[in-house]
Amino acid sequence: MRIAICLESAALLTWEIISLLRFWKKLCVSVLCFIASTGTKSALAQKPTRAVQFKAAHSWSDPLRIEPRLSGNFGEMRGNHFHTGVDLKTEGREGLVVIAATDGQVSRVKMSPWGYGNALYLDGPDGVTTVYAHLQRFTPKVQSWAVERTYAVRSLGLDASPPASAGLHFQAGDTLGWSGNSGGSGGPHLHFEIRSTANQHPLNPLDGWLDKVDTRPPLLPVLWVESPAERLRVALPVSDTLVLPGKTRFAIEGYDLLDGASNICGLRTLAAQVTSESGETLLTYRASWDELDFAVNKDMNAHAFYPVWSKERDQVHRLHRLPTNRLGIYTTPPSEGWVELDSGMRAELRVAATDAAGNATSVHVSLVGGLSLSPEGGVCNDLGAQDHGEWKVEPGFAGTQSHGSFEFAWKAGTFFESEIMGVFVRENGRTLEMMPIDVPYRKSIQVQWPVPSSVNVWEGAWSILPGDTLPSDRWLAVQRKESGEVARAVVASWLDSAWEVDLPRGGHWTLERDTVAPRVLPYHSGTPLMVSGDAVWYVEDALSGIADVQMTIQGRWARVVWDPKRNMVTYAAADAIHPRGLPCPVSLQVTDEVGNIHTWRRTLTWP
Ligand SMILES: [Zn+2]
Repeated sequence: MRIAICLESAALLTWEIISLLRFWKKLCVSVLCFIASTGTKSALAQKPTRAVQFKAAHSWSDPLRIEPRLSGNFGEMRGNHFHTGVDLKTEGREGLVVIAATDGQVSRVKMSPWGYGNALYLDGPDGVTTVYAHLQRFTPKVQSWAVERTYAVRSLGLDASPPASAGLHFQAGDTLGWSGNSGGSGGPHLHFEIRSTANQHPLNPLDGWLDKVDTRPPLLPVLWVESPAERLRVALPVSDTLVLPGKTRFAIEGYDLLDGASNICGLRTLAAQVTSESGETLLTYRASWDELDFAVNKDMNAHAFYPVWSKERDQVHRLHRLPTNRLGIYTTPPSEGWVELDSGMRAELRVAATDAAGNATSVHVSLVGGLSLSPEGGVCNDLGAQDHGEWKVEPGFAGTQSHGSFEFAWKAGTFFESEIMGVFVRENGRTLEMMPIDVPYRKSIQVQWPVPSSVNVWEGAWSILPGDTLPSDRWLAVQRKESGEVARAVVASWLDSAWEVDLPRGGHWTLERDTVAPRVLPYHSGTPLMVSGDAVWYVEDALSGIADVQMTIQGRWARVVWDPKRNMVTYAAADAIHPRGLPCPVSLQVTDEVGNIHTWRRTLTWP
């Protein structure tokens, strides 16, 4: 394995034979040292992990009765966070028995249209909590406790901690529920987590908790080279010496593939080093995904090479930890990551990755200093002299700025690095373009948005007649995809003479008004009643989105399950609050984010 790495690295170089041989010898030694320091199988095997200690003292069952196959692992980049568990495949279907991994007490039950969906938290011995998410339903004694609790608090969804008196105690191997596709799940699977009970930090389930055979090493297919002026994509391996355009920093696409699945998974460790030809270390970096912390997990946006991550969803890791990045996964000090080589000066970049099974991959790139490119000017240069303003924002400071009648306010820590903020006002104030676009916003920018000048008031979406007073309610700042589909919509609140909106990212925002109530349609034409006795509706809202769903049967509050993925609302006959054989009034009230309400009312007779 190690010899193969040396051969591969050597083959990348186009140098003369003699220097190649001399270098090869040096490289083999340094790659060996480097690999050894990144924690491979042998290093892991030396100290018993928490999982090994736990299993020696307590019973343990894998949460599914089938061979574990993973569609996702711990630490892979997802949306705006690192994935905090493993996603176990469930043969593409729902309803597989989910069993308790440890003995324990149910400490939390969640039922939500979003996120974890139906989820159960089990507090086991030695401060170990296991979490089972996206379930179809819970085992009957948990299910009936959760349903009863929902009727007591009359909420859409539930997030509650059962008291010990509820008797929700299980032993390893007991049935906890059935696998499903609830919440933010993109298909049937079981999301499984191991947490430290005390601080709720998720631990890597592949650190000895779940045994998963994996023989495929991680992949490092693309290096990204960033200078103040440009971004360069370099396919790996690369045989040519890379000429650096002055001050430069690096990011690498790195991921793992597991046996028996094609899904892109996260790495276990990633390390990088830049060494000058005189042996000086110019950059050193190491991250490992053993434990995460929900409090700072969104700083994944600063770990990722955001311009590529946000557009392509490729797992591209910055090879430096930004000083404002609070993640605890690094063992090297923070750094802005810039490497500057004098013209003609040579250096080596080495990157090594391991997966949870200890398979390792490394790449090696020869670098030489070149001439620096001058960076572009301000963010607004290419757009000519239009109605725009720009200013600098430092990560550690809050601030305010105005542009025309627009006002902008940001909190300290909004950006991870100092940025030039730029704003353009277009269409007489109906559209706002906010820069920067391809960096993450950790906090929203608060914008006071004045009423646009009246010129366009009766055109298009502004469908009011001249002379009418512009209504100030039910407005949203909307960002649309190229296809025209709504990407995100932020409710605007009216303050005297302007709207206030919290914009969570840069780009093109337009004021739009939502006056249309959600659509509500019974599952069958005419009736929502199914043979099972469940009542099912389709609900949809075109612009602002659905905020709440409330149902009554004979005036009595009834629990519904809203599934935004399928646009469906279900009343479960198992709740049994409906009378049978008698006509009774039923109402379903669906409210959107700006308060438009559709109330569906009928008399239904359950068989
Ligand atoms: Zn998951």
